[in-house]
Amino acid sequence: MDRIKKFFSTFLLFELIKGMAVTGSYLFKPKITVHYPEEKTPQSPRFRGLHALRRYPNGEERCIACKLCEAVCPAMAITIDSEQRADGTRRTTRYDIDLSKCIFCGFCEESCPVDSIVETRILEYHGEKRGDLIYTKEMLLAVGDRYEEQIAKDREADARYR
Ligand code: SF4
Ligand code: SF4
Repeated sequence: MDRIKKFFSTFLLFELIKGMAVTGSYLFKPKITVHYPEEKTPQSPRFRGLHALRRYPNGEERCIACKLCEAVCPAMAITIDSEQRADGTRRTTRYDIDLSKCIFCGFCEESCPVDSIVETRILEYHGEKRGDLIYTKEMLLAVGDRYEEQIAKDREADARYR
């Protein structure tokens, strides 16, 4: 009996009809396709995109060259050199992130005691050769300066969970 049922089900393309019924049931439902880049999906304030280095409102760099981010980075993507200033404070002389190594884990951001290195919502950037993806201190500060308003808002939204 089973074999007869199987024969007819194969012969009448029953499985195919069942599949088409599922497809048809979605025909008039609202579409969830996003027409990127004109349309974008909502982003979390914790989105881990392009890195930035932040400054205090008086323009001073937040980074105190403690190198915690460099030590914690599992991809060894961060390279920091530092020196002591005349006023006794320590600041970086070099802060590079190799984004071709970075796995966007967010550990650098989590480890930073002064909220200096952060990951922004920026995901639309590219490099045409490997060197283009090595972001220097100046480049990271420039990203921070440009997007500080959004970065500060996102930190504030997330503050109670940190
Ligand atoms: S996000 Fe992770 S992998 Fe990328 S630089 Fe920070 S710690 Fe390293
Ligand atoms: S970015 Fe933060 S964790 Fe990294 S060296 Fe500077 S102060 Fe330390």
